[in-house]
This record gives sequence, structure tokens and C-alpha cells, in this order.
Amino acid sequence: MVSPSVLDLLKTELPIEEEPLILSGDVNTGLVVVDVINGFCTVGAGNLAPAVPNKQISGMVEETVRISRKFSENKWPIYALLDTHHPDKPEHPYPPHCLAGTDESELVPDLKWLENEENVTIRRKDCINGYIGSTEKDGSNVFINWVKTNKIQRILVVGICTDICVLDFVCSALSAKNSGFLTPLEEVLVYSSGCATFDIPSHVARNTKGAIAHPQELTHHIGLYIARGRGAKVVSEVSFN
Ligand SMILES: [Zn+2]
Repeated sequence: MVSPSVLDLLKTELPIEEEPLILSGDVNTGLVVVDVINGFCTVGAGNLAPAVPNKQISGMVEETVRISRKFSENKWPIYALLDTHHPDKPEHPYPPHCLAGTDESELVPDLKWLENEENVTIRRKDCINGYIGSTEKDGSNVFINWVKTNKIQRILVVGICTDICVLDFVCSALSAKNSGFLTPLEEVLVYSSGCATFDIPSHVARNTKGAIAHPQELTHHIGLYIARGRGAKVVSEVSFN
């Protein structure tokens, strides 16, 4: 646990303005679910999974399930990214994780139903950045096609990790939008409680060979702060009208 004063200082010096979001269907909104899979979210599921129950991660899963259910009830589009690696193609600097064909690369049990929904597009990716990972061999991009086919004006991004896969995807989507690749997309929203990251406290990292400190609350905040700085809106709560 980071001492509260450090977190308070960070929140004072790098404040994030958040606003509530009420979804009613008047703006075509697509939900992007980043890597809510066992290998990152289920306790003990692998090298990059939480070793013990983690409140930020379980809260993120709960919110993702709640919002996904509403999107599906309304037949609104969902784009689900699943980190999936070939065993011969490691992903530096991470240890082996989410190998194809293993449970690690599958959606968490509470989201498994997404696979059978007509409004859901599942995309397996073998890199951190889901925008790049949506590129096909012929150069086409499944995410761009999803935005255009569904005439999406706004995306709401949830998942893990706030400062890694979520952030990279958000930054790329913002750049692509500004370059005109994603018309009619106008807004990229990130839901703070719908995102989570992993926890390696600095005192643990200091005593673990090769470990890099990654205090959860700080890095989660920094991820959201950078996303907002790049032009995303950060959402404090999501409700449905
Ligand atoms: Zn990966």
C-alpha cells in the first residue's frame, strides 16, 4: 500500500477531471473491453494474474459485467480484446502469459457469455496495443471496420491495465481519430472504476530481482491522467437511462 500522502499529493499535482456518463442511445456508443481475461484478472491464473484477491481488479470486472449486460440488452456494439500469445513469440518485457489455447487467454467466467452475443466482436491480439493488434495481414483493421460498420460516435473503454493495454489503445484511437481514420468517431471515454492495473509495491520490487515497482493506485491514476492529457474524457460513473 502506498502511503496516503503520496497518493494525495499525486492527485493534487496531477488532478483528473471526471464526469458522470448517462447512456440513453441518442449517441451511437460502442463499448471496448480490454483484456478482461483470466491471465490478468483471475487469482492465481498465471504469471501476470493477481496472486491474491484484489479489490481494484474485482471491482473493474464487476463494472465491466454490469455495463456489458446493458449494452447487450440494448444490442449496442461491444469490441472485446483478448491478449493471446503464441508460445514461440514472447512479449518482452513480460514473462510468458495468456498463451493461445489456455484458460489464461479466455474471458473471465462472468464474461464468458459475451462470446455468444450477436452485438459482440471478439478480437484476439498478440501485442499490448489493441489498436495495432486489430490489424490483419492485408493491412485492414478490424477495430476501424467495427467503428465504421456500427457508425460509432463514441467509445467507452474499460479493462486492464489502465496504464498499459488500456492506455496504449486509447492513445492510438485518439491519434487515429485525429488523422481521420475513424469517422464518425468523435469521443474516447475511459471509465475510471471500469479500469484496473496490477500491484507491485515498491518495497516488494526492491527485494525482488528484476522486478519493476508498479504501485497499483499510483499507476492507475497516472494512466488515467495521461489518457486525459491526450484527449480522452475520464468518466466517474456510468448509468443508463
Ligand atoms: Zn500480452
